[in-house]
Amino acid sequence: MSETIFTKIIAKEIPAEILYEDEQALAFKDINPQAPIHFLVIPKKPIATILDMTQDDKELVGHMHFVACEIAREQGFDADGFRTVMNCKEYGGQTVYHIHLHVLAGKPLGWPPYQERLKVE
Ligand code: 5GP
Repeated sequence: MSETIFTKIIAKEIPAEILYEDEQALAFKDINPQAPIHFLVIPKKPIATILDMTQDDKELVGHMHFVACEIAREQGFDADGFRTVMNCKEYGGQTVYHIHLHVLAGKPLGWPPYQERLKVE
């Protein structure tokens, strides 16, 4: 897999506002937040898209969600709730090809994310 901006964040070659780090995962604030709270949880292992996940990665992807919940509890937004999103490839809106879990919180979020405009003629 080719290097991404997240490889450089893991290696601390470029700065990020890191919220959590362990041997397997890193969480840091999104540079372009889409909610009052918006951070990313990434695995240190580079996996391009969720489609590239192997049997061996199942626990790692679960761990990413666990980290998101730990931060939610620590920052106190667990009570109101939050959204986790993992975009996949072009139609999913993925721009960085190193899997990442978006964690969005701090206000009620709209749903669904996309609505087909119905044509009434
Ligand atoms: P995607 O569109 O792939 O689902 O999400 C990639 C996310 O990474 C975007 O929300 C974008 O703002 C964030 N991002 C891209 N480059 C950087 C960076 O250099 N630093 C940080 N902290 N976030 C980044």
